[in-house]
Amino acid sequence: MKKADLVIIGGAIVGACVAYFLKKDLGFKGSVIVVERDPTYAKSATTLSAASIRQQFSTPQNIALSQFGLSFIHQLKERFGPDADIGFHEGGYLLLASQAGLPVLQQNHQVQKKAGADIELMTPDALKRTFPWMNVDDLTGGAYGRSGEGWFDAHMLLDLVRKGAIEAGANFIKDEATGFTREHNRITGVKLASGSTIACGAAVNCAGPNAGNVARYLDIALPIEPRKRTVFVIDCKKPHPNMPLMVDTSGVYIRPEGDYYISGVSPGAERDHAVDSDDLDPHYDLFEDVIWPSLYQRMPGFDAIKMANAWAGHYEYCTLDQNPVIGAHPEIQNFYIAAGFSGHGLQHAPGTGLAIGELFLHGAYKSLDPSIFGYERILSGTPVRELNVI
Ligand SMILES: Cc1cc2nc3c(=O)[nH]c(=O)nc-3n(C[C@H](O)[C@H](O)[C@H](O)COP(=O)(O)OP(=O)(O)OC[C@H]3O[C@@H](n4cnc5c(N)ncnc54)[C@H](O)[C@@H]3O)c2cc1C
Repeated sequence: MKKADLVIIGGAIVGACVAYFLKKDLGFKGSVIVVERDPTYAKSATTLSAASIRQQFSTPQNIALSQFGLSFIHQLKERFGPDADIGFHEGGYLLLASQAGLPVLQQNHQVQKKAGADIELMTPDALKRTFPWMNVDDLTGGAYGRSGEGWFDAHMLLDLVRKGAIEAGANFIKDEATGFTREHNRITGVKLASGSTIACGAAVNCAGPNAGNVARYLDIALPIEPRKRTVFVIDCKKPHPNMPLMVDTSGVYIRPEGDYYISGVSPGAERDHAVDSDDLDPHYDLFEDVIWPSLYQRMPGFDAIKMANAWAGHYEYCTLDQNPVIGAHPEIQNFYIAAGFSGHGLQHAPGTGLAIGELFLHGAYKSLDPSIFGYERILSGTPVRELNVI
């Protein structure tokens, strides 16, 4: 029977970061096995994401996780060698506000400023001067990340972290976790689809949109489910210089991607529900019904655009509050959870990897404190209110 001190279930960005930080930064000498059912990562949220990072959250703990993610991006060459490059483009986020949205923007700005984030509150006139292609008539302001925000290649980041974890001694295997063995309140093994069991000292659930199902093997209620989000690739020939990742008052976001743009929006409460893990058919109708009219209203230069492509991915959606669950289960204490990031997990993966590594190794967080995201809030039904969910 295989044995490991720690089994990580799910080897995309969150699982890979836990393995990497534990073995590399924290120097854990024990054995770590990462079980990944699809090493092509074709359906993982990580590779299907919009791959962007922002400081513009309303919760200090989310800002801290982003800031850690940013510092990690800046350390890539130092950590992985001179060729390490994920194409980070520091283009900024721009969150636009209508009359109703301005007080929230201002309130969030205070929190972000206190956390040291380089965010500028802009008036409609300033927006027009900086982004002349924008219609500002109905706007009261915008919050713009002058530095520390942008986008990159998620696949390249995953490749680097995964290779780094393997070089540091983590063992990635292709298999699917299908259950656990346990004695009283401790996990003793992870059962695999191949028929074997890995005897383990502990396990971490990094199964992304499938994390709720993995927890169910232990009869643990974890309100995380796959919810579809479609990304549209847009061809627009007219120039829109210096476009940041702009989040319109309609909820539609858009950012440049090479010679194209990518854009998306939540599908709306009535059709935003759990989907089958294989259902990756884009919500094409959102383009005509919501995205194009909103973009044209905001940017008259988007009068003649073409949808060049579209894909869908699954948010690992936490139905309590659209925030992750990070930490040990209070009863089964050698079962850790790092999932449910609901659209912001790529940027928060490095910080989460280090935090879970420290919790496993030292029994306490040392560098970052994501304890507000612990499982206890699920038990008590107490949401963490993050106002900037995209
Ligand atoms: C359209 C879209 C846009 C997004 N945009 C952004 C963004 O701009 N910025 C940002 O920070 N985040 C973004 N996100 C969110 C981000 O992609 C996720 O939060 C993050 O990638 C989660 O990583 P993960 O490793 O937890 O999950 P995943 O990447 O889904 O990986 C989970 C892995 O677990 C494996 N697995 C599942 N069950 C098992 C099992 N039983 N046994 C073995 N393996 C298993 C799966 O095969 C998968 O590879 C976006 C997501 C989507 C869908």
